[in-house]
Amino acid sequence: MNITRLADVTPFVCASFVDFCRQHRQRGSARAGKPLQAASLGHLFGAVEALHELSQYTDDPMLVHPWPGTSATHLAGLTGHGTGYRGGKTPLMPDEVLITLFQRAWSLVEAADDVLDVRDEILILRRAAGGKTSAEAVYVRSRGWANMFEFNKAVLELRTACYIVAAALSGCRNHELGFVQRGACYCTEEAVDNDDETNTYWWMRSQSTKTGEGNTEWVVPEAVAVALKVMERWSSPYRALIEAEIETRVAENPSDPEIAEAQLHLNAVFLAMTPNKGNQVRTMSGQMWNKALKTFTWNCGLQWDLASHHFRRKFANYAARSHFGDLRYLRSHFKHWSMDMTLGYALNASQEVALYADIQIELDDIKEEVVDGWLQPGAALAGGYGENIAKWRGSHAVTIFKDHRQMVRSLAESASIRSNGHAWCTAEDNNCIGNDLERTRCSGCDNAVIGPQHAPLYHGLHDHLHEVLACDDIGEGGRNLVRRDMQRCRDVLVMLGHNASEEPTTV
Ligand code: SF4
Repeated sequence: MNITRLADVTPFVCASFVDFCRQHRQRGSARAGKPLQAASLGHLFGAVEALHELSQYTDDPMLVHPWPGTSATHLAGLTGHGTGYRGGKTPLMPDEVLITLFQRAWSLVEAADDVLDVRDEILILRRAAGGKTSAEAVYVRSRGWANMFEFNKAVLELRTACYIVAAALSGCRNHELGFVQRGACYCTEEAVDNDDETNTYWWMRSQSTKTGEGNTEWVVPEAVAVALKVMERWSSPYRALIEAEIETRVAENPSDPEIAEAQLHLNAVFLAMTPNKGNQVRTMSGQMWNKALKTFTWNCGLQWDLASHHFRRKFANYAARSHFGDLRYLRSHFKHWSMDMTLGYALNASQEVALYADIQIELDDIKEEVVDGWLQPGAALAGGYGENIAKWRGSHAVTIFKDHRQMVRSLAESASIRSNGHAWCTAEDNNCIGNDLERTRCSGCDNAVIGPQHAPLYHGLHDHLHEVLACDDIGEGGRNLVRRDMQRCRDVLVMLGHNASEEPTTV
C-alpha cells in the first residue's frame, strides 16, 4: 500500500470505511454468516488510526485524523452510553473512597525520599557486588522493612501513589498519564486582575490520542508536579535499563524495529518491567494500572472496584460542584471560558479541551439532579423562584412536556443554577451581596430556590442572630437589622414546613 497516496484521500477513505464496516456489521459477515462484533470493528478502526499515526513519520503524513472528535473504540460502539464495554456510564467514585485513596497516596508521595534513598543504596550495593547480594536484605531490615519482599512492595506502591495523585488532580485519562515524560511540569505567573500580585499556574505537558489532539497541556495543582518529580527519580533505574536494551539491540542489529519502540519509552516516567516479555521495561499498560490500583484500594481496606478511568469522572464531578457550583467560577478561575463554553485560550493554547466538556456534562447531570428534587410532588420550597416553581408544579406543568424527565431537563437547561450554601441562586452573575454579606436576602429574592436541605442552616442562623440580639453594643439600628434577618429566617422555615417561633428554633 502506498501510504503517501492514501494521505491524499484520508477523509474520503475513512468515512467510506466506517460506513462499510457498519453495514457489514448489520448484514453479517458473508464468510462467517454472523455479524461483526464491536471488538472486531474496534480492531479494524484501530488499524486505520495506527495507519494515521504511522504516516506522521513519512514524508507525506495524513493531515487529518481519520475521525476527528471521536475514536476507534467509540465508533465501534465500545464506549458511550449503553455499551457492554463500560456497562454504561463510568460509576462515580464515592467521596470517602477518594479521600482514603488520596490521603494514603499523598502520605506515600511525601515520604518518597525515604523509600528511594534505600532503593538507590541497594542499587549501589548491587553494582559493587556485580549482582544481587545478601547484603541488600540486611540493609533493608536495618532501615525498618521486614524483608526485601515488603520493601519491593513499598517501591511499587509508591508508583501507584504518584499515579493516584496525578490522576485525581489533573483529570487526565490513563493513556495521557502514560505519555508523561521527564520534565512534564512547568509553571507560569499570571497577574491578578486589578492587583500587583501574581498567581502561579502549574502546567503538565503530555499527549492525548483519544480524539487526535496530540500534544496538549493541563492546568494542575503543584502536588501533581511534586508527584511527577518523585516519579522521575523512581523511574531513573528503569530508564537506564531501556538505554542498555537499545545499546544491545543496536550492537546486534541496527535495523531492529524494537529499537524505535524502546526509544518511545525512554523518557517516560510511569514505567514497569514486563516479565512475560523478557523483563522489558515499557510504559505501564492500562491493564497493569487497573491491577495496581485495585491492589492499592484493597490495601486501604476499601471495597471499591477501582479502575483508572474513575478518576476523570470524579475530577469532572468535583470541578462542576466546586465553589458556586457552576462554570462561571471555573470560567474566572481558568480565565478562558467564553459564554458559549468554547475556550478563548487566554492562558494556554495547548490545553485539553475535552476535559472541560466532561466537566460540563457533570454539571448538566448535577443541575438535573437538583431540578428533579424541586419538581418532586410536595417538595417544600422557599425563595421567590422556589415558590413560583411550587405553584407551577401544581398546575399540571408536566402535560406540556413529553414526560417528567424532559421537564426536568428543560428547566435545568433554561436556568443558571449555582449553590451559594444557603440557597440555589439562579441570577446571571454572582455579584449579589446575598451570596455572602447579607445571606438572608435570598429568602425573598425572585432568583432564589431554598429547599429542605437548607433548613438546618436557617435554624442555626436564626439562633445565632437571637444571641446577637442580646448584645448591648449594637445600637437600635443594629438590633433592627438583626430582627429583620430573624424574621427572614422564620419566613423561610415556615415555607419549608418547620416551626418558627421568635425563641431559638433549633430542633
Ligand atoms: S439575593 Fe437573589 S440574586 Fe442575590 S444571591 Fe440570593 S438568590 Fe442570588
